[in-house]
Amino acid sequence: MAADSNIDSVANNRVVALAYKLTVDGEVIDEADDKDAIVFLQGHKNIIPGLESELNGMKIGETKQVTVSPEGGYGEVDEDQVEEVDLEDFPEGVEPEVGLELQMADEHGHPVYGKVLEVGEDSVTVDFNHPLAGKELNFEVKVVSVRNATPDELSHGHVHGPGGHH
Ligand code: ZN
Repeated sequence: MAADSNIDSVANNRVVALAYKLTVDGEVIDEADDKDAIVFLQGHKNIIPGLESELNGMKIGETKQVTVSPEGGYGEVDEDQVEEVDLEDFPEGVEPEVGLELQMADEHGHPVYGKVLEVGEDSVTVDFNHPLAGKELNFEVKVVSVRNATPDELSHGHVHGPGGHH
């Protein structure tokens, strides 16, 4: 497929490859260079809203610093997401200890991530908030490439092919 030579900037319904460095609390916690840039469909909530909205109009090769508040990122910390899990419901073969991060399933079988806060005699206190909830996210981004989305990608709302999923 020929490159879209007339497509030179980020806009809704275009497929964007983005290199980024994510810094939280002064620590780099995630990084992707040009080669392993994330690929997503702009304007379809494939990425967090606070970052997506800042990308519109960026040219290929352009870099930008973007600060995302918790509201535009992974939300505020929700105390209701801290739950008591009966020891007998704890995943088999996993030794509960404070600070342990683990994957469990919700009632629909979707993966949820939890962090053990406290281990009691019969139960374990697990924080199911996203690890980045309540955090300000500092992104350094670079637009690596932009192309038009295919009709299939638009109807599915996500990217197909290299870097995408089905
Ligand atoms: Zn699809």
